Amino acid sequence: MQKTFSIIKPDAVASGRAGQILAHLEGAGFRIVAMRMTRLSQSVAGGFYAVHKERPFYNSLVTFMMEGPVVLLALEREDAVKTLREVMGATNPANAADGTIRKLFAESIERNAIHGSDAPETAAQELAYFFTSVELNQL
Ligand code: GDP
Repeated sequence: MQKTFSIIKPDAVASGRAGQILAHLEGAGFRIVAMRMTRLSQSVAGGFYAVHKERPFYNSLVTFMMEGPVVLLALEREDAVKTLREVMGATNPANAADGTIRKLFAESIERNAIHGSDAPETAAQELAYFFTSVELNQL
């Protein structure tokens, strides 16, 4: 079993798709280990995406991630990191495969409904950024 980290982004929460996305993830075999709805501050959103600081879309991305509530998720299944990336689909929904979450729910390359860690090391860092070890191990 492997854990990964996901965020249901503000666009999907605002459009009432959070429940459908959770159902999609459970249908794909993920167990919800920890979950919290919150609103990200500038420093938390900026720190989370610090790896993209030099990219032209960084400020826009951080502003988007702060615009409304998000759902933070710790998810578990076999091969969780790779499987979540497959279930999410490509960053740009125009390139996402049929049936993927981004194909179904994303508005644009930026407002793309869901985040998922891109590697096991990133998943460990991102899980620890938002959840305590007690939250990650209690259920
Ligand atoms: P991901 O791993 O598929 O989420 O993609 P990246 O790590 O490359 O980018 C992080 C997030 O930045 C994406 O999920 C989008 O919300 C946003 N993003 C990525 N590329 C672009 C872009 O070219 N323009 C804009 N406006 N946002 C982008």
